[in-house]
Order: sequence, then C-alpha cells, then structure tokens
Amino acid sequence: MPEPLLPPIPPYTKQHLPTERVTIPMVFPVINPTRWRSSYNEDWGSHRHTGCDLIAPKLSPVVAPFAGVLGFKPQTFWIVREDGWGCLGTHLNDDTPGTNDNKAHLDFMFAPNLVPGERVREGQLIGYVGDSGDADGPHLHFELHGPEGMRDPAPSLKVARRLRAPLPLLPPEPNRLEGCVRRFAAKTRRLTVLPLTEPRYKTLVLSETALAQLGGEAGLAALERSRVVSLTVEKQRVERATLVPAGARSATESGQPLVRLSGSSLSPDATLTRCATAELAQFTKLSSPRWIRTGSMALGPLRMRGTKLKQAAILGLSGAPASLFSQEVVQEALRYSGFTRFGGAVGSGRIILILADG
Ligand SMILES: [Zn+2]
Repeated sequence: MPEPLLPPIPPYTKQHLPTERVTIPMVFPVINPTRWRSSYNEDWGSHRHTGCDLIAPKLSPVVAPFAGVLGFKPQTFWIVREDGWGCLGTHLNDDTPGTNDNKAHLDFMFAPNLVPGERVREGQLIGYVGDSGDADGPHLHFELHGPEGMRDPAPSLKVARRLRAPLPLLPPEPNRLEGCVRRFAAKTRRLTVLPLTEPRYKTLVLSETALAQLGGEAGLAALERSRVVSLTVEKQRVERATLVPAGARSATESGQPLVRLSGSSLSPDATLTRCATAELAQFTKLSSPRWIRTGSMALGPLRMRGTKLKQAAILGLSGAPASLFSQEVVQEALRYSGFTRFGGAVGSGRIILILADG
C-alpha cells in the first residue's frame, strides 16, 4: 500500500499570508469556462483567503495541475510533487447530478480510478466542481503550497496551460471508452461502467470475447473498483476489452530514452534504459534518506523491481532541464560512482539515469 499523504494545512489567520511571487508551470485545474480573480490574502473578516476561487459550472472536470502524489478526503484533494511544491483543491461536488442534495456517491465527486498515495499525471481527471462545504456556489477553491509555506496561486494560474478535456490514460481511439466497472449482471452480460470522462453511469452489453478478455465472471467479480478497463464499443455492445495496467501513463507522458547520448563515445545500455523508462512511470519520491540531494538533482541507491543489480541512480527532479544530462554529467556520474554501465530516460518532467556494474 502506498503511504498516506497528509494534506497541506492552510493557516487560518487574520495575519497577512506570504506574498512572495512564484510561477509554477501547471495545467489550469478546471476544464470549461471559468471566472476567477486574484483573491489570495484578501481580508475575509475572520481570516484571510488562502487561495483563488475558480468559478465554473457544477460538475466541470477538475484535473491535476501537475504530476505528483495524490491525497484526498471527501470534498478535498491535494497533490504533492517530489520537490515539495503542492496544491490543494476543495468544494468538489457532493450533489447527485441534477439535484442539490449534498448526498452524492463519491463516484460523482472524484474520478473512479483514484487511489490515495498513488502518483497522478498532469491533466488527469481528479474530480468535479461542486459547492460542498461552506461554498456559496459551484467553484474550486485552489491553494498553492511550497516547501516554505503558502504562495499566491494567481501568477501560476494566469499563465497555466488550458486543456479542452482531461487527458486519457491511453492514446485516444474512436469508439474506445475508459472507465471503472461498477456492476455486472452475468445473466444478461450487462456491464455498468463509470467513464473517466463524465460522472454518468453507462450500461453496455459485453460480447463473449470481451467477457473472456476481462477474465470472465470471476475476473469481473474480483476487479478492484479503481481498476481502469478500456472498452471498444459498437452500438452499445462491447466488442473488445482490456485491463489498463495500474499506473499507466498518459499518452503525452511516455518515457523517452536518452537518445542524445547515443552515438557519443558513451553508449547507453539497453536493459538499464528499459529499467529507467519503467521507473519514470512508478517513481514517486526520494524513498531513502541515503539520497544525496544537490540543487535540482539527487544521487542515491534505487531499488528496482525484477533486477538484482547493485545500482545507483541520478535522478533529475521535476523541472530539471534536460541539458543537465550531457555526456559530461554522465561521465562525472560514472566516475563518482565507480560503475561502468548506464541507461536513462526522460519524461514527465523528470530524468532518470541508472548506473550499474559491468
Ligand atoms: Zn476560496
């Protein structure tokens, strides 16, 4: 199980909040037309406002502004990056669609595939705009937290990249639907799924082939609620189905080998490059106090699944420029560690370089 991640706690105070300006590259966290103004640090009587309120129609999709480790509880989510920057959003939807009942199932508050403590990708669906808690109307209250405390999210929001829709897990294809299974009636082979794109259950009939591809009735019964299935649908009938691997990356984030280094006097090792590509998808944070951290990079042991090599790795943390990983840096790392082989991959704003013995 991933470790639980505690939410950043905004100060409830009449004192001024920190006003140092920062711009964190991000995707705008709400899809759909949004009205907002800079209201961080405004005096609201009993306290100062700790974020910006992004006003949007109820049930507008909320997406991860950047990649990081996710935590959530009813109404609220938070995402923390490896470098200590994080965000928090609240007032997610708690109404059954079409009502104002404050009693919605969590399926209408959060994306169905979220697991607390797991890594989310930039642009991934997190949940839906609502008016839960003490909100006057539907909006996302959005906060930015840094390693040294809160900051105004407005400068980052002003230049944030706008998406037209949450990013899918797999490259989009016509007639393909990604969702999580909610019910299966074996007699009629009717499958109820919650798509990753909208808070509305869909009922489809599984073909024999698709049912077998999902492991039959037993496979469906054992399926975790957060596990994503990819369904190819023709006329309300699922013709083909696959289980999306847990931790699948979005199409825009797949790892790229460090090609710049091939052809130089140093040639990357294919096995280690494959390991590095896999690590990009799974690595969430510096897992050991034995890591040495310098600026935007860290050096330390990296335990990897399925290998028995004694290894060290240099990890480019989020925001590290790719130019850091020149031939000179690789040479330096090999010299420093005493290892002779290396492989690496770039993606998701990170660079992983793995070093190993011959
Ligand atoms: Zn607010």
